[in-house]
Amino acid sequence: MRARVTDKANLLTLVDLLREEYEVIAPFYGRGRDTCFDTVTDANRHLVQIHIPNPYYPPKRYVLPHIERLLRFHLNDHPRIQPCEEAPRRAIFGIRSCDTAGINHLDRFYLGRDFRDAYYERHRRDLFLVNVVCTDPDLDIDDDCFCMCADTGPAARDHFDLQIMDLGNEFLVVAGTEKGEAYFAHPMFRKGTPAHLSRRRQILTDVRKRFKVATSWYASTVRYITGELISEGTWEQIGNRCLECGGCSYMCPTCTCFTVTERQVGPADYERVRIWDACALGGFTRMAGGFNPRKAAHDRRNRRFFRKLAHYFIQRELSVACVGCGRCIEVCHGDIGMPNVVETLRRATAESERHEPVAH
Ligand code: SF4
Ligand code: SF4
Repeated sequence: MRARVTDKANLLTLVDLLREEYEVIAPFYGRGRDTCFDTVTDANRHLVQIHIPNPYYPPKRYVLPHIERLLRFHLNDHPRIQPCEEAPRRAIFGIRSCDTAGINHLDRFYLGRDFRDAYYERHRRDLFLVNVVCTDPDLDIDDDCFCMCADTGPAARDHFDLQIMDLGNEFLVVAGTEKGEAYFAHPMFRKGTPAHLSRRRQILTDVRKRFKVATSWYASTVRYITGELISEGTWEQIGNRCLECGGCSYMCPTCTCFTVTERQVGPADYERVRIWDACALGGFTRMAGGFNPRKAAHDRRNRRFFRKLAHYFIQRELSVACVGCGRCIEVCHGDIGMPNVVETLRRATAESERHEPVAH
């Protein structure tokens, strides 16, 4: 991967260059501590941020919209069906390494197997990703981030077109694809020196020390979940704390579930839409006729963590379905985000597995 250096003052020049080709999405401050991804316009371009708390609402909605029209149909004397519109060419500027890995996870799910999802593909085809490495310990990294545990950050190793890293008084920009490297033709980029690369290594070494979770703690839980070694009582303990709000799935950059429904939009006009769904919600597993094989909340929590951590899915998707963004910790009123659940499963199961010697 080639790298170049550019002055910090050139950040908006890069944003503007991207805007010549793409609708550019970038992080902004909202109200209070709130942050969000939004479209860059002439009016707000000077407010684009790169060091900012990661928005709660992940950028996955730009490839998997919360509500997406699949087709429209008109029912009168001449019924007709209209396919969905093309998606805009988009660039996400300032996407974090965890969210870059999240989009890669969605790619493997929606495009990586026998059936390619045409709706996802039309959003993903022309998507350009500008990853920003989290280097500011006060603004970029918070106590709930555990990308190092998920092996997705703080610097993404792949699945971006360009990657920007703040070296202090200039930016190091790495090209992950030919499309990204084409931007290096612009005069704002100059060749770096070995000193830039050693500064990069040093910053990453320092930043890694700022994470509360620096090692992977999934392993035993993957074994317990895959081997169905977790007791019903432990799942009940977790399920009893779930308020069934669905927030953990909606905020999760790797959750893929949706439902499909039709709605009337005019006297003879209807549309078919797909909408994010969440395994926490009571109706998620309800079947036609009303039978629900996972009626109890703890059965549906069991399903969520089985889906994220069981060996079968890891083999199929080449990673656990968690990128360590920490959003489920922040949004969960029951305090059952990923790390807490892993800890509960690990402790409870290790204790029940322990075979103490008996002296007699
Ligand atoms: S965010 Fe917490 S309370 Fe809400 S559905 Fe998820 S686990 Fe349950
Ligand atoms: S499970 Fe939680 S920490 Fe992991 S990717 Fe999803 S929201 Fe982020």
